Parts: sequence; C-alpha cells; structure tokens
Amino acid sequence: AAKREGRGNFQFFSPEMNAATHEHLLLENRMWGALNAEGFELYLQAQVELDTGRVIGAEVLLRWHDQELGSVEPSRFIPVAEESGMIVPLGDWVLGQTMALLAQWQREGLEDLRLAVNLSARQFSGSTLLARLDELVAQHGIDPSQLELEITETAAMRDPEATRQLLRQLRTRGFKLAIDDFGTGYSSLAYLKLFAIDRIKIDRGFVQDIEHNPNDAVIVAATIGLAHSLGLTVVAEGVETEAQWGFLRDKQGDEAQGYLFARPMPAREFREFIRRQAQPVPDA
Ligand code: C2E
Ligand code: MG
Ligand code: MG
Ligand code: MG
Repeated sequence: AAKREGRGNFQFFSPEMNAATHEHLLLENRMWGALNAEGFELYLQAQVELDTGRVIGAEVLLRWHDQELGSVEPSRFIPVAEESGMIVPLGDWVLGQTMALLAQWQREGLEDLRLAVNLSARQFSGSTLLARLDELVAQHGIDPSQLELEITETAAMRDPEATRQLLRQLRTRGFKLAIDDFGTGYSSLAYLKLFAIDRIKIDRGFVQDIEHNPNDAVIVAATIGLAHSLGLTVVAEGVETEAQWGFLRDKQGDEAQGYLFARPMPAREFREFIRRQAQPVPDA
C-alpha cells in the first residue's frame, strides 16, 4: 500500500495497486501543488430570475488547470479531495476567495448580487465551519445574506439532527442556505420542513428531459409546489433550452441556472457580463 506522509508527498506504489488508486494519488499530489501555486480559479455561473431572465447572482464553481494534466473536471477532482480530506483547505480557499469577491462587488455597487458556494460534506460536518465563516465575514466586512451555502441532499441527510442545528445557527447569522442536487439522494420531506433553508436546487437530471419524460415533468412540477408550500424558493439547474425555460415558467418556478443563460465563466468575465446586461442594448 502507499503510505502518505502529509502534504503532497506519497512514498511508493506497489504493483497490485490499481489504476484508480494511482489516479487518486496523482491528483491529490498535484492538487496540493495547485493550492500552493494558485492553480485553482473560481468560475461563476449566472443564476437568473425565471420570469425575466434578470441575473440575481451566481454559483461559484471551482476550476483547476494543471500544467501537465490540463483542465481537470470537478467531477474528477472533488471526489478525490473529499476522500483525502484536502477538500477542507481547498474549500476554505474557495470561501475566502468568494468573500473577497463579494467585498469587491460591494465596493463597486453590486451589493444586490448573491454568490452561492458549494460546501462539501466534510466541510459541513466538521467542527470549524461556523467559526471560520465568522472570521471570514469579519475579515472581509461582507453581509452574510450575500452568501448562499449549498449543501447536497446526501450531505444534509447524513446526520439530520446535526444538520438541523447547524443550519439554524447559519440562518441566525444571516447566511442563505440551499439544498443542492435535490431529488438525487435519499430525502425525507419531513426533514425538509425541519431544515432552516431558503432554496431547493432541482437537479439537472430532472430538467434535461422535462419536455419528453412525463415522470420528470411531474416530479419537477410537484417539487416546485412542495417547495412553495414550505415557503422555499426553487432554482432549476441545467436549463439548456427555451422549451425547458418555458416549462419552468409555466410551473411557477422561481430561478434558473444553465447554459441557456450563461456558462460558468471567470469572475472578470462575469463582471463584464453583468455590465452588458445592465446597459440598454444599442440599436443594430
Ligand atoms: P453542482 O454544484 O450541482 O454544480 C452544477 C454543475 O452543473 C456545474 O458543473 C455546472 O457547470 C453544470 N451545469 C450548469 N448548467 C449546466 C447546463 O445547462 N448543462 C450542463 N450539462 N451542465 C450544466 P461543474 O462545474 O463541473 O461542477 C460539478 C460539481 O462539482 C458541482 O455540482 C459541485 O458538486 C462540485 N463542485 C464544483 N465546485 C465546487 C467547490 O468549490 N466545492 C465543492 N465542495 N464542490 C464543488
Ligand atoms: Mg452546487
Ligand atoms: Mg447541483
Ligand atoms: Mg450536481
């Protein structure tokens, strides 16, 4: 077996080690390098008001470009970071960068825009989250209500009682809270009611076939109804077509995110994107 000895150095491979383990160690090792050498970058994907298409904020999505490996997808590196525990320093970096960006926006008069950040299960269940958030809020002087924390349904349901308490504490501080990938994990409607959340994000998997799959259509419509009856807002993920947008508007959805409106983009580009939106479109 490989023996890991702290930061970014692993000692040896044995022949029986499978490719998955090798990949895991490779990625973990390169990620430590990236974290120290600014190889990670925040991308932002717009979230829009469903009725108008007006941008109300963005989700922060981590991007990693490695000199040797090229661009590595979050679906490849996040699970490795999660398993190895390095998601904690990495997630902390994401939180710090996000707060710095919010502070900058505040100075530029963009305080109406909200940023949503993904919290990993480990960050969420660790004991340091609250104190760390307090520290970062004080350091950057931001208003907690500008920041939305996304936790997946699966992470939330690991220990529902602990989740309930933590969400309440976060809510008291003013943070916005969202359940991500809703519908993909085990969830209990009873718990949804107990959790102090603001939003449900309907997973892209339900949205993509909304026009053709009657089951998905029913599930999405019912989720919107359920959320509203609990006083929650619904964000639909992965909206790619006008028809999907139309369906969601028809079912009284609230907000959306997807390639139809904008792809994830670097923070600087997002700033430009907003500026263009805010200006009247010139005549051709
Ligand atoms: P997620 O939080 O559910 O993020 C939404 C994902 O859907 C993003 O993938 C986004 O690029 C993608 N997406 C958005 N609109 C569309 C669309 O219209 N069509 C399609 N095909 N895809 C769309 P991404 O950026 O690859 O991230 C994948 C997952 O990695 C995220 O899923 C999240 O679970 C995780 N992740 C990303 N950044 C972070 C981070 O900073 N921390 C943690 N803990 N997890 C992160
Ligand atoms: Mg998310
Ligand atoms: Mg999601
Ligand atoms: Mg997802």
